Amino acid sequence: PPYPILLEGTVQRGYGRGSKDLGCPTANLPDESLPDMADKVEPGVYYGYAQVLPSQENESKLRPEDHQVWPMAMSLGWNPFYKNERMSAEVHIMHDFPDDFYGHHMKVVVLGYVRPQLDYTSREALIEDIETDKKVALTSMARPAYQTYTSHTFFHSN
Ligand code: ADP
Ligand code: MG
Repeated sequence: PPYPILLEGTVQRGYGRGSKDLGCPTANLPDESLPDMADKVEPGVYYGYAQVLPSQENESKLRPEDHQVWPMAMSLGWNPFYKNERMSAEVHIMHDFPDDFYGHHMKVVVLGYVRPQLDYTSREALIEDIETDKKVALTSMARPAYQTYTSHTFFHSN
């Protein structure tokens, strides 16, 4: 089985395609962090855990609790910027951060698959599906067998 899949990298600036407007900001992982996963799995929405590490170089208002391990929902898709030759990974962390964390190191443990990538005809339909994705992720991550991953050494070593 491919899971868990471990990914990490510096949070990149995206196209700012208004995911904050959709109520769902997504932290983008660098493309270099991906080949590992693109080989193993298909595009779609996944769930798991993520952790944003403290950063000395980047000013932000993050508090100690913001650096815990939180449930996440991730979209893995083809990146149009690279003529769809590369995958891109965008991670929505289920936690209310007081500030952006661009430039911070992020660790992600992918634990399961939610659904394939779909085309949406309306913004409302997309927003509705994103809400469903978040519920699926939260429900899954509440299971004791998954919660053990919050103490995975990956999250607790440098
Ligand atoms: P971009 O196109 O630059 O990725 P987004 O609108 O998707 O813009 O916003 C993503 C940024 O929002 C992240 O890089 C991060 O700094 C910030 N952010 C704040 N809260 C969250 C969250 N709960 N999950 C993911 N990113 C968040
Ligand atoms: Mg984004």
